[in-house]
Amino acid sequence: MSQPIATAAAPSLARPEWARARRIVVKIGSALLTDRDTGQLKRDWLASLMDDVTELVRQGRDVVLVSSGSIALGRHKLGLPKGALELEQSQAAAAVGQISLAHAYQELAAQSGLTVAQILLTLGDTEQRRRYLNAWHTIETLLALKAIPVVNENDTVATAEIKYGDNDRLSARVAGMVSADCLVLLSDIDGLYTAPPNENPNAQHIPLVTEITSEIEAMAGDAGTELSKGGMKTKIEAGRIALGAGTNMVITTGKVLHPLRAISQGCKVTWFLAKQDPVTAKKRWISGQLESRGTLHVDEGAEKALVAGKSLLVAGVTHVEGEFERGDAVIIRAPDGRELGRGLSAYAKGDAARILGRKSSEIAEILGFEGGPELIHRDDMALHRK
Ligand code: GLU
Repeated sequence: MSQPIATAAAPSLARPEWARARRIVVKIGSALLTDRDTGQLKRDWLASLMDDVTELVRQGRDVVLVSSGSIALGRHKLGLPKGALELEQSQAAAAVGQISLAHAYQELAAQSGLTVAQILLTLGDTEQRRRYLNAWHTIETLLALKAIPVVNENDTVATAEIKYGDNDRLSARVAGMVSADCLVLLSDIDGLYTAPPNENPNAQHIPLVTEITSEIEAMAGDAGTELSKGGMKTKIEAGRIALGAGTNMVITTGKVLHPLRAISQGCKVTWFLAKQDPVTAKKRWISGQLESRGTLHVDEGAEKALVAGKSLLVAGVTHVEGEFERGDAVIIRAPDGRELGRGLSAYAKGDAARILGRKSSEIAEILGFEGGPELIHRDDMALHRK
């Protein structure tokens, strides 16, 4: 295990984006969590990470963890040989290892009075809009309830064609999904270099990236080891996804104790800075959706509320047209027929039609489930400028 970083009198040099980040997603690689030779979980390291998470939560930030390690832990328990595994073997290893992983998080979080929640995702959960909405709402609900979501790929069921394969990109998708301000990729290296430093002694550390150019891509090399699926290449791809979603990204080393505290203290990292914030990025994506599945006609009161920046409530919608599912893009029209904007519907057409104009308190009774009073949340809506 590497030595803890010096903490005494460290200057506070973290970028302001770190201090400002209200919602942070942290990706933890297998190589940091497990001992390569014994396959054992590095408990001291994980305990130090959970200390840092507790500190961030105390500061009022939302934290989502994306943790690898299931295959690395499980393969050892199953006595599988070193080297590349067959797909079925990885799936079996993940099934065994994920239990230990979740247990370790639960135990260590409980020491600080935190609750963790396991979320296993497959590619479709972030790429298909409807499933995306479900995963997103669950994570939002957990965060509102002050639980720490611990996400991993559902490796047991994900076959080659429907797999991310690496948690770098998965964590960037999750960061976009929850509109995180910052994604931290804890790696075995303290950032991006002009060339892989183990191959080129003249490689220079790059502290700041504001755009992912082909030059930056070329610096990444291939890499990827037996233990960690992603090399710098998938981290740059994660950067592209994160910046597109308005999320800043940090690559730094996790080979120290208290790696998140180290960021607060201005340790060596590479920052990838997004040009826009997550909500703006999402709204821009929504307004660019060419295909709309339906139309929601709103009353005057709702129009005023929307212009004032509020969500669209079920109570303010007079009628709906088209055939849309939950999560589909729909057009919002004023009483005089003008298009006010677009948004993602929180209800399918059939359900929406049954609850139109009804009070929030009646919705659950009519539908048989608690879906909330909003037909479109304000963050899921892009209004046209007047
Ligand atoms: N999901 C894999 C696991 O938990 C790891 C993928 C990766 O290393 O990025 O073992």
